[in-house]
Amino acid sequence: MPSSATASAQSAIAVTTPISNEIPKFAQAVPTQSGVLIAEDDLLSRQMLLFLLTEWGYGVTEACNGDEAWQILIESRQPMLVILDWMMPGIEGPEIVRRLRGRAGGHLHYIIIMTAANMKDAATLALDAGADDFISKPFDRNELRARVGVGHRMLLLHQALADKMNCLQKVTKRIARLARTDELTGLPNRRSFRESLTQAKGVACRHGHSISLISIDLDHFKAVNDTLGHSMGDQVLQGVARVVRETVRCQDLASRWGGEEFLILLPQTTSEAGALLAERIRRNLEEANLSGTQITASLGVAQLRCGEDVNTLIQRADEALYRAKFEGRNRVVTAKP
Ligand SMILES: [Mg+2]
Repeated sequence: MPSSATASAQSAIAVTTPISNEIPKFAQAVPTQSGVLIAEDDLLSRQMLLFLLTEWGYGVTEACNGDEAWQILIESRQPMLVILDWMMPGIEGPEIVRRLRGRAGGHLHYIIIMTAANMKDAATLALDAGADDFISKPFDRNELRARVGVGHRMLLLHQALADKMNCLQKVTKRIARLARTDELTGLPNRRSFRESLTQAKGVACRHGHSISLISIDLDHFKAVNDTLGHSMGDQVLQGVARVVRETVRCQDLASRWGGEEFLILLPQTTSEAGALLAERIRRNLEEANLSGTQITASLGVAQLRCGEDVNTLIQRADEALYRAKFEGRNRVVTAKP
């Protein structure tokens, strides 16, 4: 700002209270990047506001009429502290406030309306329009600094609250994901799988699709834990999960049902197609060298019968699995349709 403009602008302030040399601590701690929009058609007032706010450390954007101010506000991505003149060419101050408050996120702007001191019921009208505060012209610089400081603190509080909410949402999502995931293998856990199976059954019944289930149990897994230790047993289970995940199709859902048992949901799949996939899994597990351990598995396949509930389907897949165990392990047995 040219020095002559500064001098004339400074003379335009009505200093109704002595300017204190001691600025309160909270008023000093203004980040330089904190944004303020000044919408004021009177050049002298606008220059004065610009001078003072810049001196107090705010980053200032200027608008010389209502239309320009509105354009800046709708393009702004961050909540701003807005100082609006009541009467301006284009959209007037109160109308800008009403429009802003009607927009998503518009309530986060902190708005100070400036009115002529002789305007009747100015404060009531400004606040009723949706402004957070008002100040009458000509303004006192100390009062302006204090009121802008309040707005700045409110925006900081809003921002801190938004950051906390954001953090809380992330933690909630993470907890929800952990509650549905088996910690060791990263596969969906029992609870999550049961929900998915119930949902898939509903879809299959509505559209008349077939749906099948593969139940897998590792053969003699207790011996792995007993001879090689539980840590090695855990590594084997992680390896099995990897092989299963890599073998199933993208539409299938593999889960760790518990211990060394895995269940796989096969949407839009008959038991014949399910048995072919089960055989591929059996062979891949047999051929995999999981942490230096050769492991085999027994597998049962069952297709959902009309009107059958998910518990019965799981039970029939398990019965097929037990038959595979009984018949010598390392094989696939399909339940009767
Ligand atoms: Mg005006």
